[in-house]
Amino acid sequence: MLREFIASLRLAFALVCVGVSLILGGQWLGLIPDMDAMEMRTRQRYCEAIAINASAHVRRQQWVDLTTILKTQVERNDEILSIGLRSDLGTLRLDTGHHQEMWSDLTQHESGEEARLVEAISVPITLNRRPWGSVEFCFRKPASSAWAPFTRHAVFRLIGFFVIAGLASYTLFVAKIMGVFRKTQVVPDRVRQALDTLAEGLLVLDEQGKIVLANRAFTDTIGIPLEELVKKSASGLSWTLPHNQELSPSDDATYPWTAAIAKTELQSERMLHYRLADGRNRIFSVNAAPLGSDDQQRGALATFRDVTHVEEHREELEKMLGMLRSSRDEIERKNSELEILATQDALTGCLNRRAFFERFDAFWRTAQTNNTPLSCVMIDNDHFKNVNDTYGHHIGDEVLRRVSQIIRDMHQDHGLVCRYGGEEFCVVFPDLTLKQALDEAEKTRAAIAAIQFEEPAELKLTASLGVSELRFNPADPQELINQADACLYVAKREGRNRVIAYNVNMADQAEQDQNTVAKPQRLDISYQAVTALMSALSYRDAKTAEHSRRVADLCSRASAQILDPAQIYVLEIAALLHDIGKVGVPDNVLLKPGMLTEQEWEVMRRHDRIGVEIVSSTFSCDELTSIIAAHQWIRLEGQRSGSVPPLNADENGQVMWCAKMLTIADSYDAMISDTVYRQGCSHDDAIAELRRCAGTQFDPELVEHFTRAIDETALAVTLGAFAVGKQAAIQIGINVERLAEALTQKDLKALQEHAAQLAVTANHCGLESVTAAANQICEITYSENLQWAMLLRDTNELLDTARSAQADFLRDALELENSLSFESS
Ligand code: GH3
Ligand code: MG
Ligand code: MG
Repeated sequence: MLREFIASLRLAFALVCVGVSLILGGQWLGLIPDMDAMEMRTRQRYCEAIAINASAHVRRQQWVDLTTILKTQVERNDEILSIGLRSDLGTLRLDTGHHQEMWSDLTQHESGEEARLVEAISVPITLNRRPWGSVEFCFRKPASSAWAPFTRHAVFRLIGFFVIAGLASYTLFVAKIMGVFRKTQVVPDRVRQALDTLAEGLLVLDEQGKIVLANRAFTDTIGIPLEELVKKSASGLSWTLPHNQELSPSDDATYPWTAAIAKTELQSERMLHYRLADGRNRIFSVNAAPLGSDDQQRGALATFRDVTHVEEHREELEKMLGMLRSSRDEIERKNSELEILATQDALTGCLNRRAFFERFDAFWRTAQTNNTPLSCVMIDNDHFKNVNDTYGHHIGDEVLRRVSQIIRDMHQDHGLVCRYGGEEFCVVFPDLTLKQALDEAEKTRAAIAAIQFEEPAELKLTASLGVSELRFNPADPQELINQADACLYVAKREGRNRVIAYNVNMADQAEQDQNTVAKPQRLDISYQAVTALMSALSYRDAKTAEHSRRVADLCSRASAQILDPAQIYVLEIAALLHDIGKVGVPDNVLLKPGMLTEQEWEVMRRHDRIGVEIVSSTFSCDELTSIIAAHQWIRLEGQRSGSVPPLNADENGQVMWCAKMLTIADSYDAMISDTVYRQGCSHDDAIAELRRCAGTQFDPELVEHFTRAIDETALAVTLGAFAVGKQAAIQIGINVERLAEALTQKDLKALQEHAAQLAVTANHCGLESVTAAANQICEITYSENLQWAMLLRDTNELLDTARSAQADFLRDALELENSLSFESS
């Protein structure tokens, strides 16, 4: 305010100075009349008139009348002090009183022409054309002071008045004009019009945050005309925080313009919400720049970018991304649960053989590459048969649970713990030397011996352990296990409840012992070789490979609780490899989209036999080869003679049992699966067909067992309308997980890759909805204007399908576990 006044005063002073110079200029040019000269002339004329009058009276010698007239003049005119009549001889003939003193006073003391003229005037008079004398006038001298010259001169008085009045009036006038300018004309019209063309809203604010100007974009967006906005505080408008939280004008720090004015700092990209009169919200990204400098703050310039649409879109994307992440996390969790289910032995929670060999292979490769130690411990419960015989199978199971629990607690964090056989466990320690593994084995033996049971309290356990390590140069993981196994039998022979380490002589020793000690046949199946053959089959015919995996799953479930884990493993491998001969079938037969001719069937059968040869030459495991050969024979015999051989209890009984179960599982899966020339039937229809052919193609007792196992366990997982094995469920889960991860990372290349992979996996499993969804995602990723929102929506839908499918699978699997444990107790 004061600053404004001073500015106005300055401007007024300048104007006054100009005015004064003009007056002085006018005075110099003579445009302003000289009052003193005029007065002098008036006095002169007056004096002359009196002198003419006086000369008339002198001629007539009327001295008394003349005195009276002169006195009257002195009385009437304040400025005249005295008048006298002096003859040429210098005598004062008459006067109005005291004239002589005043006249002599004036003539003696005053000097200078001007002073005399002003104060004293003498007008000569003539008589008969001859000078007679003069009439003398004494005028009053004006009061003399320092200001006298100024006060007496009219121009100075005018200047004085002009300075004082001008300063006051100009100051007021200028202040008023400035005020008007400040409010309306601070921003020139041209600039204002230019600002109106901006798409962004714009406010010019004064130092108190009051609106000086708002451009059209701003007024249009918030729906308030400029006239109503001007002079209003910008903070007093209806600003809110996100989610409609109220914001009061005193929340100064929240407003970018107040911060810009207070800190004289640029405030950028600050988000503010504005509530419109109709209740809708607009979201602005606000930038505010201070105007003026640190010492002279002039307000701020604030711009408002309407990001409502972008923000709403972003919020929606965030929400979808949140859903995506939580779905992905859930799928991840379920995947690991599924993996546990797929890789664990149901009774003991240890790894099953397939999972164990998969992981063992990885450790084996690492140890070979890095030249690091790797050791293996075989553990076998001593006289376990006695436990079963004395206390019953349920106590036997409990014992196995306790023993496995101890082994897992001790080693599963740093090694692999597998239930290798009925009461046999295998532990693999990466990075442990023979010495360290021996120590671990000894601790394990002691821990098993220390187990105490409440019921039966007298039950004491011991175990024998064999240890081997890579230093004895086993050719593959299986040989390392065999070495540890050889030690195990030495431990048994030497009295049990002890740990024996491998040494190079032991192989020969074991060989010799084989003749004297009854040693059960060990299973020599390299899982690496199984994996290699399965990869070859997958490459040649993915559908058959998937079918084999499903059949392996069915066999493993149907034989649980009947066979021991080692036998289940052999059956599983037999199921995996029962169609391996197809790798050699020509494409025109293998992939023929229709019924096969008799000739083509013959090709297939020939390759079945080739399959048996592949298995027998790859693995030195008679049991495995026999199961596959028997399965092929049963299939052929059943079809040819219409009957299956009975289940006998001879030494091949187990092989036949496995082969018959394999045939049933193989047929069941073939029936429920879609092929190019026919659609798969339902589970119920497949079971009905199995029962119809029971006694001819299939063993009736085993069909019932299989049906019960399948019914009870609901092994078939319904993803859409199709059954998917747990491996496939996990694979799909992993694909979806990676897809979600790629989407979160916005990694387009990974996204395309995983969507394509998912489409292939889902297609193999016959999951049409998942395949279609994955293909759809693929298509979007290749489209020219890629829309992430659409991609997110579709992926979320896909995740939902996958999640619910996994949930179904887990529920069924849990029911299966429950029913199995109920059955066994
Ligand atoms: P050794 O000291 O020589 O090892 O004698 P053992 O009795 O432990 O050996 P053997 O191999 O003769 O017997 C193993 C027994 O383990 C046979 C089988 O009944 C039993 N068994 C295998 N799997 C299970 C199971 O899951 N539960 C129960 N309760 N018993 C099982
Ligand atoms: Mg034993
Ligand atoms: Mg045993």
